[in-house]
Amino acid sequence: MTPRHRIVALVLLLGLAALVGAPTPIEAQAKRLVTIASGWVVGVYYPLAGAMSRIVYKAKDLNLRATVESSGASVANAKLIGGGEAEFALLQNDIAYYAHNGTEMFKDQAVKNMGGVFTIYPELIHVVATTTSGIRSPKDLKGKTVAIGPLGSGTEANAVQILEAYGLKLGDLRKAERIGAGEAADALKDGRVDAAFFTVGLGGAVIIDTFVTGKVALVPVTGTEAEALKKRYPFYTTTPVPANTYKGQEQEVSTVAVMAMMVARSDLPEDLVYRFTKAIFDDLAQFHAAHAAAKHLTLKTALDGMPIPLHPGAEKFYKEKGVK
Ligand code: GLU
Repeated sequence: MTPRHRIVALVLLLGLAALVGAPTPIEAQAKRLVTIASGWVVGVYYPLAGAMSRIVYKAKDLNLRATVESSGASVANAKLIGGGEAEFALLQNDIAYYAHNGTEMFKDQAVKNMGGVFTIYPELIHVVATTTSGIRSPKDLKGKTVAIGPLGSGTEANAVQILEAYGLKLGDLRKAERIGAGEAADALKDGRVDAAFFTVGLGGAVIIDTFVTGKVALVPVTGTEAEALKKRYPFYTTTPVPANTYKGQEQEVSTVAVMAMMVARSDLPEDLVYRFTKAIFDDLAQFHAAHAAAKHLTLKTALDGMPIPLHPGAEKFYKEKGVK
């Protein structure tokens, strides 16, 4: 056969295969495409989701290609799972609990098709204020312009709950802005907002960035108000921001934190989620390299603070490993 004949023969063969419904060699190799709903490009979810996408792509027994989508984050991500628009998602454990149980912002719209895969690292509620604003406590936010978190964020829920613990409502602020995390950082640097809330892992790019100018400080969330907050919403734990985590932050600052976690849509095959989970734990080094906060993921702690039932695929994996 001449090369030309060979091409014609191949085209005919592929056409025939398509007609009889047999998979072409290309289809047989095609990877299943899934979406991981992540979060802010300047946060921690996004680089972590990128690392997971690379890990699962390489995994030989997992014919999967995961695309990473940025989003407002936790609340938006739970809704993406609920609406069938994402297969996997990162979100806060408090928000996952509300979504699963149909409480708080998920009243009458529970997200039942979501199973836990692992919890990862503490996400600290960073309340960042400009030094010129004179804000020393969340109660000083009264009458101020405050970025309370992007639309669809878990941050917004944390901001509202913390304000409430200090006796404030959104209406007590001069203005509550729901802008992107990167925009909020810029607004802080320019003094267009007095303060901003960010629920994000320690060392999140957005927080490092706001501290570069030397014109901001962390506001502690402590005292009887923080205790009342933890009592009312048990997902919060007291967690310190160690001294010198951010430029010019010389003292340790106490705040509250929730946990970041990974979920999978319930209708994903058990085997797929089993292999996905296994692939991540088989390549923890690459996962850990994605961000300092990622180093918290270990087999031993993978179920700490897990607020919802596990996906059967993840459950199978942990059973096999003897993790309770
Ligand atoms: N925890 C944040 C939120 O849901 C997102 C943080 C991130 O993207 O790293 O509001």
